[in-house]
Amino acid sequence: MPRAHVIDGRAVAALIREEVAARAQALRERKIVPKCIAIVSDGDAPGLLYAQTARRGGEQVGVDVEIVPIGADADTSGALAIVARIVEEPTAHGVMIQRPLPRNVDENRVVDAMDPRKDVDCCHPYNFGLVALGRRRFAPATAIAVLELLRRPPVRSLAGARIVVIGRSTIVGRPAALLLTAADATVTVCHSKSEDLEETCRSADILVVAIGKPKFVTAAFVKPGATVIDVGTNVMGGRLVGDVDASVHDIAGAVTLVPGGVGPVTTAALLRNVVEAAEQQS
Ligand code: NAP
Repeated sequence: MPRAHVIDGRAVAALIREEVAARAQALRERKIVPKCIAIVSDGDAPGLLYAQTARRGGEQVGVDVEIVPIGADADTSGALAIVARIVEEPTAHGVMIQRPLPRNVDENRVVDAMDPRKDVDCCHPYNFGLVALGRRRFAPATAIAVLELLRRPPVRSLAGARIVVIGRSTIVGRPAALLLTAADATVTVCHSKSEDLEETCRSADILVVAIGKPKFVTAAFVKPGATVIDVGTNVMGGRLVGDVDASVHDIAGAVTLVPGGVGPVTTAALLRNVVEAAEQQS
């Protein structure tokens, strides 16, 4: 058992799901069924798993999630045609494009074709720009999940906290850093070219790890008593493991585990974005 306090992602997700269910019910009473269509490339096993998890989670809270596959041999014009059809579908309030898209598809062109009002995972540059401006409409669900996990005791107030985020992807590290900055934290973003990574991380009151390298972050990266949020999901020996090594649990003050940490909150946050989109469009 970790010595650190375990921040229970499933419990945080349950609170969000309760809110989502109530808002979805209010919409259904007005004959509006909140719905999201997830576009997933054939052969993208993690993307399909994420969409299927969202679909199962949606069933529990009254949000429909439909999965539309896109062939591995699709090109940009084929992908654009699928997105155009889905974006115009009046019953779909949200559209989620799971990346990576097939090899021959220009992802930027497809993402640009998204209707920003339906962009529930915040891939369109307009919505990402709003996040950067501190005027967010939607934010990427995983970045929201990081914020949600840090919003409750025993985690210290984010205002003035020194936070290091390892990872600068547009779906996790970068938007998480923007949301945490908007919450008045002092945020440093690290990546594969960062020098003195361990030392920088040891300065953090809160360390957010989103790298995609199993057990990369060890106790040497962590200030005693710090909070460590592990976003990583890696399959190792048939098991799901995070980016954070168990040695961290003996030095940190609070940690999230994988599974049971960021993942369930991400799904709940996505479903809440769908309900928000449905509310905005009605
Ligand atoms: P990504 O697009 O591959 O980005 C990885 C980031 O980590 C990059 O910014 C990269 O730096 C940085 N990095 C890689 N090796 C590093 C090193 N040795 N030292 C410092 N930084 C390093 O991955 P992602 O999409 O952000 O996902 C990250 C992890 O989170 C993955 O395990 C993914 O499966 C997981 N994830 C989980 C959820 C969830 O709901 N739980 C959702 C999304 C993603 P450069 O920019 O310099 O290349």
